[in-house]
Amino acid sequence: MDPGLSARALDLLQTVFGYPAFRGQQGDIVEHVASGGDALVLMPTGGGKSLCYQIPALLRDGVGVVVSPLIALMQDQVDALEEVGVRAAFLNSTQTFEETMRIERLVRSGEIDLVYVAPERLMTQRCLDLFDASRIALFAIDEAHCVSQWGHDFRPEYIRLSILHERFPNVPRIALTATADQQTRAEIAMRLQLGDARQFVSSFDRPNIRYSIVEKGNGRKQLLDFITSEHGSDAGIVYCLSRKKVEETADFLNENGIRALPYHAGMDYAKRSANQSRFLREESIVMVATIAFGMGIDKPDVRFVCHLDLPKSIEGYYQETGRGGRDGMPASAWMAYGLQDVVLQRRMIDESEADETFKRVLSMKLDAMLGLCETLTCRRVRLLDYFGEQSGPCGNCDTCLIPPVSFDGTVPVQKLLSTVYRVDQRFAAGHVIDVLRGVETDRIKQWHHDSLSVFGIGAERAEAEWRAILRQAIALGLVTVDHDAYSSLKLTDAARPVLKGARSVQLRQYQKPVKAKRASTPSKGYAEMELSKSEQAIFERLRRWRMDTARAHNVAAYIIFGDATLREIAKAKPSSLQELRGVTGVGEKKLVSYGDEIVAIIMEMS
Ligand code: ADP
Ligand code: ZN
Repeated sequence: MDPGLSARALDLLQTVFGYPAFRGQQGDIVEHVASGGDALVLMPTGGGKSLCYQIPALLRDGVGVVVSPLIALMQDQVDALEEVGVRAAFLNSTQTFEETMRIERLVRSGEIDLVYVAPERLMTQRCLDLFDASRIALFAIDEAHCVSQWGHDFRPEYIRLSILHERFPNVPRIALTATADQQTRAEIAMRLQLGDARQFVSSFDRPNIRYSIVEKGNGRKQLLDFITSEHGSDAGIVYCLSRKKVEETADFLNENGIRALPYHAGMDYAKRSANQSRFLREESIVMVATIAFGMGIDKPDVRFVCHLDLPKSIEGYYQETGRGGRDGMPASAWMAYGLQDVVLQRRMIDESEADETFKRVLSMKLDAMLGLCETLTCRRVRLLDYFGEQSGPCGNCDTCLIPPVSFDGTVPVQKLLSTVYRVDQRFAAGHVIDVLRGVETDRIKQWHHDSLSVFGIGAERAEAEWRAILRQAIALGLVTVDHDAYSSLKLTDAARPVLKGARSVQLRQYQKPVKAKRASTPSKGYAEMELSKSEQAIFERLRRWRMDTARAHNVAAYIIFGDATLREIAKAKPSSLQELRGVTGVGEKKLVSYGDEIVAIIMEMS
């Protein structure tokens, strides 16, 4: 291997991107790919995957081809590269013919470092011919989990990417994803013929994200309380399951003084991309969206990601929450979850068209998700364990900060199971709970359920408590919700030992939904970045300058500089270009473009 390679890689990192050192495995990956090796890179969202192919593309002869599934985001990716002085372009269907011809010429003559293409474009004869006639530095396959047929982002076009290996056997390929489970990893290696590629698996921990999962009461109201008390004017994402709920939630937030925009696949394309672009370009906007939103969104200063509905799997949940705090600053992942979520998700699996094997996979994924929601121990330990990583209590999740109280729930669960049995397993949650609590509803009288031995045996608990117990019984697999029209509750085989007293059940104590309080101890990263009053003023001033500059250049604000960089400038108060050069995120090109203006702002304010 070329001995000067790692020195040249580091030099590019510092002078072009303005970062002092590689993070985690970045350095090894860059060297491996730059020397011509294939790689499969698993790194969490925000881990820094882009540099892993951008720097090798600069180090190698020819143009680096980046396969990316989302044409809507290519413009921002190219803008960001051009800002640091890297020659980049994209080829996609939004361009005119003349523009396409121009880019193709640049690719052929090697006057460009990186070109972004969507997989369906890459597979066209025209594009393959172009790359045949050009010198290719590498192929980077971003969001590589899209090849996984059982995954949450399946894209059939991705499967055809295996031909790259056959057609360009001497060009190194690097596949990258933030989805880490074994099955997806194996599928990527198999389908992209990356069996011999070196695998780089990073830690999936995102220590700056604080995870919390609360019991759902009035979900929307809880969401509003959470945002107003913890994230006043921050940018964030709120995920909902249905299009209708997206619209309603966005309206609700707007009525309550929070600037929210909807995003879902049912909206027309122009409206959808306009909202996406506002979210990326403006500050403090809350995007309320279905999971159609978010892949490839590189906005680094998303401060919170909320879920108003239960996600289907931990992979999906982790990827969605990972969109918060990419800049390394503190961020929140917040979810409200309740009995109805469990019922709904189970029913969706039962009613889906999938075959039995697939349903079993879906069901196992849901069980793991429920286990995370109901856990009595650290959320992060559970999350990382799911990705095969061992860790200790994190101190930055709800269960670490306010440990939940557990209790021996055997007796109440027995009461619940007996009641389900006594009403012949033909009634839904509401009715079963009414019987338990001894409420004399019309329906109870009609069915003479007030004469059952179980009538009123649970009168000591409130309805919400019984819902929490039932939810956990479902999560534990003791009760299922039938997919008949009534959603009636049924006992499983696992219920028998509990009813007989042969198995005890540990439950999480129901906690009344409380108003979210701002965490009293900011996490470590935050404390380090805490600004004094005068520094805060500089930071605000720099943000205004950034907004104006971004508008003038017609790019997203974060592409000029991230919040983390502006904060560092506000703390360091550089009085010369030389001092500014040392700040993380300030490379040579940006120093030339903006250095004088920034130093002038600092001088003016001190
Ligand atoms: P990913 O694609 O893995 O989600 P990105 O490549 O978008 O992550 O990087 C996430 C953030 O981390 C970006 O803001 C990027 O500029 C920053 N970053 C990446 N590598 C480094 C590094 N070595 N030092 C400092 N910041 C970095
Ligand atoms: Zn924890």
